[in-house]
Amino acid sequence: MAESQGYRVLWYTEWLSSQEAHIHAIKRIIFDGYTKYQRVTLAETGSFGLTLFLDGYAQSSEYDEFVYHEALVHPAMLTHPKPEKVLIIGGGEGATLREVLKHPTVKRAVMVDIDGELLEIVKKYMVKWHQNCFNDPRAEVVVADGKKYLEETSETFDVIILDLTDPTKGTPGVQLYTKEFYEEIYDKLSKDGVMVTQATSTRYNIDAFSVINNTVASVFPVERPYKAHVATFYSEWGFALGSKSRDPLGIPRNELSERLGRLGLKFLDEEIFYHLFHFPRYLKEKMQQY
Ligand code: SAM
Repeated sequence: MAESQGYRVLWYTEWLSSQEAHIHAIKRIIFDGYTKYQRVTLAETGSFGLTLFLDGYAQSSEYDEFVYHEALVHPAMLTHPKPEKVLIIGGGEGATLREVLKHPTVKRAVMVDIDGELLEIVKKYMVKWHQNCFNDPRAEVVVADGKKYLEETSETFDVIILDLTDPTKGTPGVQLYTKEFYEEIYDKLSKDGVMVTQATSTRYNIDAFSVINNTVASVFPVERPYKAHVATFYSEWGFALGSKSRDPLGIPRNELSERLGRLGLKFLDEEIFYHLFHFPRYLKEKMQQY
């Protein structure tokens, strides 16, 4: 309260559900406008620092974007024994690509985002997120619909990461949370291929979280739901990992330790890695209802 009185406050309301909202003190609006696909608001908030909102929902903030992006990327990358070719669908901020490129085995990483105008805003104002990884010689950035791209490509990938806007909010990503799309992903993954998708909040959308995990499980022989607490999303954020062969909880301990140790991460270590995959009983019971 005292801090918000130090400047002329503009309040920004983010609706978490029809029953609950979070109100951010805004220090400065860096960008606010419409692209062809979404409303993009980039603002310096009082408690999370620089924050990207798409259609009114926080996508990531300076405060803890690394938590979300490390949790999204590394469990899948480590589940694959040697990821060389990686496809990211969505991932506008560039931080997912940044994390993928930390793995020394990666030879090629393709990022496909539908919104070229958003990418220009990100490149200009969100250097802390992408850290110029778009210029890495291993990276290719494609502006296209991820579904169309995957259907048309003849390439296969070791890991496919879906970093998309939520399916629950009428966004351009809705069609990329379906069984048909996960089957397409399965076909475009190499022998030990792994996929992961962000799967919304376990607090606000336990139904969507459970359904996404069940859908991935209906396509992949190995499936693991997991979550990490992301303060910017006011809850634990959910993910769904599908694997053709290796189980993330079956990675040899010495391999996990050695590969994780080389990445220089801020959030994920061995202890947290295992913690991600364990749910309290009340959540397990809720998940079983779907
Ligand atoms: N971190 C976010 C979260 O969980 O709240 C999601 C990350 S990100 C900013 C979402 C990205 O998905 C956006 O850049 C958006 O343009 C992209 N996107 C949405 N639909 C897409 C589609 N059909 N194909 C490719 N990219 C898409």
